[in-house]
Amino acid sequence: MMTIGATATREAAGSVGADLTRLVRGQVLSPGDTGWEVARRPWNLQVKQEVRAVVVAEDAEDVAATVRYANQYGLSVAAQPVGHGATTALRDTILLRTGALRGVDVDPVARTARVAAGAGWADVLGRAGAHGLTGLAGSSTGPSVVGFTLGGGLSWFGRKYGFTANAVRSAEVVDANGDRYRVDATRDPELFWALRGGGGDFALVTELEFDLFPAPLLYGGRLLWPAERAAEVLEAYRETVAIAPEELSLWYTLLRFPPIPELPEFLRGRAMVAVDATYLGGLANGRELLSRLLAVPGTLLDTVGALQVADLGSVAAEPVDPVPAMEYAALLPELDDDAADTLLGVAGPHSGSPLNTVQLRHLGGALARPTIGGGAVGHLEEKFSLTGIGMPMGPGMAEQIEAHQALMADAFAPHASGRIFFTFLGSEESPVAAFPPDVLARLRDVKRRRDPHGVIRSNHPVLR
Ligand SMILES: Cc1cc2nc3c(=O)[nH]c(=O)nc-3n(C[C@H](O)[C@H](O)[C@H](O)COP(=O)(O)OP(=O)(O)OC[C@H]3O[C@@H](n4cnc5c(N)ncnc54)[C@H](O)[C@@H]3O)c2cc1C
Repeated sequence: MMTIGATATREAAGSVGADLTRLVRGQVLSPGDTGWEVARRPWNLQVKQEVRAVVVAEDAEDVAATVRYANQYGLSVAAQPVGHGATTALRDTILLRTGALRGVDVDPVARTARVAAGAGWADVLGRAGAHGLTGLAGSSTGPSVVGFTLGGGLSWFGRKYGFTANAVRSAEVVDANGDRYRVDATRDPELFWALRGGGGDFALVTELEFDLFPAPLLYGGRLLWPAERAAEVLEAYRETVAIAPEELSLWYTLLRFPPIPELPEFLRGRAMVAVDATYLGGLANGRELLSRLLAVPGTLLDTVGALQVADLGSVAAEPVDPVPAMEYAALLPELDDDAADTLLGVAGPHSGSPLNTVQLRHLGGALARPTIGGGAVGHLEEKFSLTGIGMPMGPGMAEQIEAHQALMADAFAPHASGRIFFTFLGSEESPVAAFPPDVLARLRDVKRRRDPHGVIRSNHPVLR
């Protein structure tokens, strides 16, 4: 194994861009270059990323060369295919864009997929769906499969099949020395454990192999009502989740659509309530399971029906293009009457909330069970995930959103477990909130041993 060590100084790496241009095949951008602002800009426009250079990797060797260079000059490398999980913690960092590495290979017989570092869920789902299979994707097909999975991955199908990270079979990595190799349950099991839910702090992943799961019949979609129905819909939602089999996932969302011309007129500037559903089963059973919700009158939109795996991203209709976003997240052990009233109080139609989405996701099922041989993601005993996202699109809005998120955190303090699912940590939040102390200690131990100089920089460094 070649070890370069942080022998040179950061100052010596004065013209990082010029040096890297000689070492990699992909494009290298430095401050002041044409295209610099766009190159360093993440998907979440609210986060300003100050980095030393941007490398647009063309292949896995570019990834390794960038890490070797950073190692030599005491810099760090942050992989960022999309920037959904953007961060400000990027001092002395080279931003590595892996979005061009989009290879996808689906093996319907082995029921596995292999994806390169920049492939998105949209690249996988169409191919898997053609064979009656699905990957454990989440609400949006925008995040890269690798970024999503390293963060644990809360999928539509998690209640049935568990966390996406635990479906990983192997990973091709570049370690903090710039060495390339493959890890799995037998080759480097400790690193393999950390990668599956501990985030991108331990190695850069150039390829991921993971299991696909049967989804020959898929049913789902969105039911949308005016916000005035929020209480009625919440009651029906609670009754439905109480009887939901693991094949059914249900999310309840209070929505405030911004008054922007990109939205259809019936949504623009309006407050609404939605239930999004996916069911790994047929249409008849699906309608029966949702009957309590379907009986709530006044729907403005009903897209529930047979669903193609490839169309999974359309269910929750999340923004695809970059937006500014400020996040709040919590986990709720229960959704009892008090918690439901709290939700309507802070985010319901009469709350004056400036947040654009406040969402409950029903957890449980396989997400609540420990997985033998599973990764750092572990399991979640809480029955609901709660998020509250605001998009500051005008002057003064960021302050309003921040104040309302603080109010929400206070209101939910008696109902929340105090833990946050790793991937829903805000851009400034520490992983201390995400992991039980023993898991965090083990992750920190892996980081100290595998990357003592902090060459690899994730959006949520475990030593922060
Ligand atoms: C609209 C939206 C919907 C979402 N829905 C869900 C959901 O349903 N379920 C869920 O679990 N999450 C969800 N997320 C969260 C999302 O999964 C995380 O933000 C994830 O980290 C995004 O990955 P990315 O590659 O798109 O983002 P990026 O910001 O590009 O990357 C995020 C982090 O992943 C790590 N990383 C990425 N690529 C590599 C690599 N090749 N090697 C090593 N580390 C790497 C890095 O630490 C990086 O900082 C959602 C996010 C958004 C914005």
